[in-house]
Amino acid sequence: MTNLVLTNARVIDPAAGRDETADLIIRGGIIQPRGADAAGLPRMDAAGLIAAPGFWDVHVHFRDPGNAFAETRRTGAEAAAAGGFTHVVTMPNTFPAGDSPDWLREQIADTLPVTILPSACITRGRQGKEVADLEALAAAGASSFTDDGAMVADDRVMRAAMIRSKALNKPVMDHAVVTGLAKNGVIRDCPLARRFGLPVFPHEAETEAVLRDIRLCRETGCATHIQHVSCAGSVAAIRAARAEGLPVTGEASPHHLALAAEDIPLDDGNYRMNPPLGTREDVRAIRDGVLDGTLALFATDHAPHAAETKSKGFLKAPFGVIGLETALGVTWKIMAEEERMPLLDWVARWTTGPAALLGLPAPTLAPGTRADLVLIDARTPWQVNPESFRSLSRNTPFAGWTLSARPVLTLCDGRTVWGKIP
Ligand SMILES: [Zn+2]
Repeated sequence: MTNLVLTNARVIDPAAGRDETADLIIRGGIIQPRGADAAGLPRMDAAGLIAAPGFWDVHVHFRDPGNAFAETRRTGAEAAAAGGFTHVVTMPNTFPAGDSPDWLREQIADTLPVTILPSACITRGRQGKEVADLEALAAAGASSFTDDGAMVADDRVMRAAMIRSKALNKPVMDHAVVTGLAKNGVIRDCPLARRFGLPVFPHEAETEAVLRDIRLCRETGCATHIQHVSCAGSVAAIRAARAEGLPVTGEASPHHLALAAEDIPLDDGNYRMNPPLGTREDVRAIRDGVLDGTLALFATDHAPHAAETKSKGFLKAPFGVIGLETALGVTWKIMAEEERMPLLDWVARWTTGPAALLGLPAPTLAPGTRADLVLIDARTPWQVNPESFRSLSRNTPFAGWTLSARPVLTLCDGRTVWGKIP
């Protein structure tokens, strides 16, 4: 268990509405009250650094079981710790799919550097046809339900799942893409799409799905979460639903906040994700949605793929990019630096927002709690070098970017899981 005094840190704790310079005393992994006896504890000068509750990511793919060459639970958890995260929600689109209590027990069996809060499938085998045994899955530790990678297209099946999920007090999270509208689209209409004749993925494929999910939310009252929001129409629909008082949330990924389709420099599979990068107008709308709280959380959609598959160009590469080791720095650059987002809100999108979605207690640095903490240096520029990642995969569109924020220390459940105490 960690013993440490962080002196003169900028303590940002949204759950407590706290943003102030203070010392943080941690003894035996527990955060101590102000002015507690700190004699004999290692001291770390944290002047100029930010101390926040450990970050939560409600959308990660660890390819375990099935594609452990791209990521295992352990390497994924190590990448999360290195990225400043203490809690991650793993997606069930593994092989086999996560539709059984046994799968859930395997997800949470190992002692890993971060806490895994697995989601489980909405439907059996992620086939979209028959609702999975949500009650048994909840009892076995499912934090939430999703068929991520695919939408549950059948309204009747989704409605039945939402009624049962609401009774279990769990959110459903939807990969809101109507396959029949997306067809074989891989990119939004943009110069590169035209130059290479790449099939276009229309906005309607997402907005129609979001409107359907909102309608079912209105009918069932189930907490409904829209994964990886990628376009302006979806942000507007979620904003209207929330104004109506519906329990609808949405997440913004670092890549959808930082990059537009127009920015894609070349036929590179590392820019291919589902849903695809938006237009400049979409990027503006997603940033505005994060700023005004319409999108209450950030999430990476960390999607590891082996280099061989991603190097085949836009048409042949699989969808998805990794994000755990760049997310903090990229969202800092885009939202804190460029958009001047209040830091209390920026931290909230990575902490209280995700926890509220899952119906779990708000992460906090309050005295008496086990230390889940990230210490952030936002003053020392660093360059993204995928070769240094803990993740087994390298498929990022941010290679070579210069960022100014990075985690220098991560504590999870009272233990140091990233960085060194001097
Ligand atoms: Zn998805």
